[in-house]
Amino acid sequence: MSFFKTKDDLPVKWKEKYFDLLDSQEKLEKEYKTNQDLLCKTIIRFALAAKGFNKTLDPHLDRIRDLLKAGIKTQPLRTELEVFSNALMAMEDHSSSSQVDASLLFDFLAAHFPGRLAELRKIRQSYDAREFINPQRLFIALAEILEGDNTPPEADDFANELALADTKAISQQLLGLLENADLPLEFLDEGNNLRLRLQSGQPLGPVFEDAVNLLLAIKKHLQLEQQEMADFLSSLTEELAELGLIAAGVNIAAEDAEKKRNNREQDVAAQMADLQKKSATATQLEPLKQLVSIRLHGINQQLQSYALQEQFEREKTQKELRNLLQKIREMETETTELQSRLEAAQSRATRDPLTNLPNRLAFEERLTDEIARSHRYGTTLILAVWDIDFFKNINDTYGHKSGDKALQVIAKLLSKHCREADFVARFGGEEFVMLLPETTLPSALKMADKLRENIEKSSFHANGDRLSITLSCGIAQYNKGDDNESLFIRADGALYQAKQNGRNRCIAI
Ligand code: GH3
Ligand code: MG
Ligand code: MG
Repeated sequence: MSFFKTKDDLPVKWKEKYFDLLDSQEKLEKEYKTNQDLLCKTIIRFALAAKGFNKTLDPHLDRIRDLLKAGIKTQPLRTELEVFSNALMAMEDHSSSSQVDASLLFDFLAAHFPGRLAELRKIRQSYDAREFINPQRLFIALAEILEGDNTPPEADDFANELALADTKAISQQLLGLLENADLPLEFLDEGNNLRLRLQSGQPLGPVFEDAVNLLLAIKKHLQLEQQEMADFLSSLTEELAELGLIAAGVNIAAEDAEKKRNNREQDVAAQMADLQKKSATATQLEPLKQLVSIRLHGINQQLQSYALQEQFEREKTQKELRNLLQKIREMETETTELQSRLEAAQSRATRDPLTNLPNRLAFEERLTDEIARSHRYGTTLILAVWDIDFFKNINDTYGHKSGDKALQVIAKLLSKHCREADFVARFGGEEFVMLLPETTLPSALKMADKLRENIEKSSFHANGDRLSITLSCGIAQYNKGDDNESLFIRADGALYQAKQNGRNRCIAI
């Protein structure tokens, strides 16, 4: 059966290749995980570098860092970034260490806008509790109230009230507040102008009205800026989320070039390092946000190109895998065919084609097994050897074909009368053997005699003649120490005796 060897080996080879490929894929998945970790670590480092830049942002940066430590998870990251964006919007780049006394200003406003007393009191409480980060916030809050008041006092009342108030002291307080306010660039000139007018002791009424108008303009400007900031942060959030998605997509592709991977890591690391360096030295939010945006965009683009490349390679590998699988399937079909051919060949080797009974070779194997079993478990075993009487005459009288037919009919009769555990084989020529496990000698003899009688009574027909066929049988029981040969010799001896004693009989010894 040497011809099966090389063919049998082929599927094994293909399977090995297939499993190797699966192994390398698993390895790549691990590497992707490493890349993702590296990306997270880099962003964590960036967050670390930005720490201390602003106290309000620090806890947010800490949380983003903690989130990234567990890998890129889009949803929690998005939520945290939204919180971060709100914090950024609330953030102002000013110190609120010293607070200007505004009590006189509040008194003046209370007297001047009696309809807004409740709101003014509230603002005053907040101001005293230092809830306004800077004077700008206070101005905006006040401007909102004044803007909403559509019942200004009569001009006379206004002048009277101004006369009543200590206009100089109020001017000083307003001036103090203005000096502490970090006005946006566009409003610096107007602010300075107002300051000069206050310093020069101009009448408070018109100056105050101009101050209110200026504050309303600043408020509008800040609202626009806040909107811009919100837009920027939302695009930043989108970009980060996309970054996470792309990073997640850069996965299972089969990758052979170690160099390529290293280059990618270096590219991203370089971008991140640059970002880290620049963000550490940044002192203003606007340039920093531009920088973050540009860098993230760059990293995003790079990751996108990596993803495309990875996808190309992944498709290539998948195609190879499909081909391999196809080949394996072909091999498996071939193996199945070979298997059935092998079984047929084995069957041919152990079956007698004329009677379809097991042949002598199969009998020898079975006898070895049964003897071993009887030896091991101490059970009984009977061997019966059958031989057709005067078979030569049948051949000579009716021809070989009739002889063959008779052999087939007798083979069937012998098999039919056996139990399932028994074994019948054609030993050769017109001789048959029977193995009867767990049977005693007397019951084996009884069974054999009954069978012999049945065959004798059966009608055989050849060339229109009805003829009778008889068999002789020798029976022996397995004795401890017997091997195949010794047991067979005893049974064959009994058969010889049966022939000697006139044939058509069974003898047990
Ligand atoms: P005995 O009672 O002493 O056994 O006489 P016998 O004629 O049966 O014994 P012998 O050994 O003289 O002859 C056996 C014959 O069986 C000879 C042989 O041609 C025939 N024979 C053996 N195998 C086959 C076979 O496959 N087909 C046919 N038709 N005849 C066979
Ligand atoms: Mg014979
Ligand atoms: Mg014979």
